[in-house]
Amino acid sequence: MTSTQPYRIFDVTLARFADVSPHLRRLTFTGPEVADMTTMAPDQRIKIFFPRDGIAPDVPKDGDWYKSWKALPVADRVPMRTYTIRHLRAEQCEVDIDFVLHGETGPASRWATRAQPGDRVQMSAPNRLSRSPIDGFEWKPPAGVRHILLMADETALPALAGILEELSARPNLPRVEAFVEVPSNEDRIALADWGGLTLHWLAREDADLRPGDLMIDAVRRARLPQGAAAADLVLEDIDIDANVPWERAQPIDGGDFYAWIAGESEAVMAIRRFLIKERGLDRRTLNLMGYWRFGKVYE
Ligand SMILES: Cc1cc2nc3c(=O)[nH]c(=O)nc-3n(C[C@H](O)[C@H](O)[C@H](O)COP(=O)(O)OP(=O)(O)OC[C@H]3O[C@@H](n4cnc5c(N)ncnc54)[C@H](O)[C@@H]3O)c2cc1C
Repeated sequence: MTSTQPYRIFDVTLARFADVSPHLRRLTFTGPEVADMTTMAPDQRIKIFFPRDGIAPDVPKDGDWYKSWKALPVADRVPMRTYTIRHLRAEQCEVDIDFVLHGETGPASRWATRAQPGDRVQMSAPNRLSRSPIDGFEWKPPAGVRHILLMADETALPALAGILEELSARPNLPRVEAFVEVPSNEDRIALADWGGLTLHWLAREDADLRPGDLMIDAVRRARLPQGAAAADLVLEDIDIDANVPWERAQPIDGGDFYAWIAGESEAVMAIRRFLIKERGLDRRTLNLMGYWRFGKVYE
């Protein structure tokens, strides 16, 4: 049966891998089904299902996979984590995913550290044959935007790299300020560049720094539009232990400023407080996304 759901399950095999930097490994997956994969934006997210006890995942392709997966006791679920499509070459049946190698504490990083060509995983990814609109991405800058702020840590660097590539190909280039926090100086990678881009690498060389500390500090140096007075504004709390912090920008016609900020959840929450409460920025211009949580597992 051909699925026409916006997201469907793909069986894929690791074809090869290459290290982009000491902490970022590009894994290229292949398989005939990848011909039917698609991507809508540079931050297109997918779910990857990893082997459990050495057995390749076998998530059913019919029906609502998420409902069936959630219905299982936690101990019986195959591990699932969220990743970004870095490049899709559907005509060659290949998809690249850039994995942060953060050690062996989680199933995804452990698998990516050890995986060898021929190893199998499954992906829930956008379906080219979908009859419904495909979502699963937040990079939706308003037409004509003139000033963009990008902030990412290493987990959001694959998306940010794609965003810069997309921006650099535009005829009317906006002014972009980008901050990228990475584990070490050696993790700075080549990115698309143009005259209107100011790129700041933030390398966590100091072992006392927590992931996100440098981003929190850096946002205070960012060039930002003039905000409204916000001293009385009550910013609602988000319980980031229970929920992944995720606030989407709302398109504003003729909007001049747009921000895309993703990384460790506590850091994103601190940046949210600064931009909205201290700087009084219009939250409709801000995408604020927790990609992972220090010391905690999000599925
Ligand atoms: C929309 C979206 C897109 C994403 N895209 C990518 C991507 O393209 N590439 C990518 O590498 N990640 C990406 N991530 C982040 C990734 O999903 C998480 O890092 C995930 O937790 C990794 O799973 P794991 O099994 O390795 O670790 P988990 O089992 O989730 O966590 C185990 C432990 O490792 C810690 N941990 C998790 N991630 C990191 C990290 N990066 N550095 C240090 N410690 C960590 C946790 O705090 C926890 O203590 C994305 C997340 C989202 C929401």
